[in-house]
Amino acid sequence: MRSVIKAAALAVGMAMTVGAGAQEAGKREGSFVVHKLNDWLYAIGEPEYYQKNYSYLLLGSERALMFDAGANQKEDITRVAATLTDKPLSVLPSHLHFDHLGGLHNFSSVYLVDIPFTRKFKRDDGLYHVPEPVYLGNFDHMTVKPFKVDRLVKPGELIDLGGLQVRLLNTPGHTRDEVVLFDETHNVLLSGDHLYPSWLLAGNLKDYIASLDATLKLINPQTTIYGAHADEDANRVPAMTYAEVGKIREQMLAIQAGRAKGETFSDPELIKQARLFKVEKDISILTDIEFTDGRAYGYKP
Ligand SMILES: [Zn+2]
Repeated sequence: MRSVIKAAALAVGMAMTVGAGAQEAGKREGSFVVHKLNDWLYAIGEPEYYQKNYSYLLLGSERALMFDAGANQKEDITRVAATLTDKPLSVLPSHLHFDHLGGLHNFSSVYLVDIPFTRKFKRDDGLYHVPEPVYLGNFDHMTVKPFKVDRLVKPGELIDLGGLQVRLLNTPGHTRDEVVLFDETHNVLLSGDHLYPSWLLAGNLKDYIASLDATLKLINPQTTIYGAHADEDANRVPAMTYAEVGKIREQMLAIQAGRAKGETFSDPELIKQARLFKVEKDISILTDIEFTDGRAYGYKP
């Protein structure tokens, strides 16, 4: 039945999805695919990009906010946003990795999490100079130019877009600066690289588990969770469930205790070798990561 529906969808050229969480077919804008999730939230996917990134556009009555700038360095993601809103637009990166900063230079207003790790990038010229070993741009031959920050957002602070409020939480583990946005009114969590239904890269397991504990306290079984990378189906907006977050936490605890059974993993585009620990479906956790350029991934607190 599922494959029949999928074949019919392909026949009319739609990016339709099957299974739990019905989604509207995406609308193509160049390399981007726009999914309307509701009146105030859009997902902008990059299904052909090898990391299958999804950025999110939040629409308030006063302002609009992009959560992540996309990976695409050439096509301007703000032009896609401009087809959906005429409100002043800002961008907040979920963290400072290259695949979330590809379109950063197109934004006139950048928000950034206010923690010691990000504050140290500010130089005398008033701009933020992020070093390559932080953003890892070599993989995509990209450079993050020094940028101005319009607003620093403290962990726990509310961002008010006018009739739409989201709270920022710092959820270290993937990176130190990883953040998520929680909309309590609509019970939606935008989880960046903290949570998505594919290979999760653990930069620091202890931090990651503590952040999952904090996330599980914040959300509830009814929370809708959208992450920054798709699973095997690049055309489906990456959603997760509360139960899956719990299972990721359990598996991370098992890895930490040496109880989990891992396997050797590699991926020609990014990862020379790593340990892979399956969670369920396409969700897994990668530890002990060595990238294709020989660099090790991870940080110490
Ligand atoms: Zn990342």
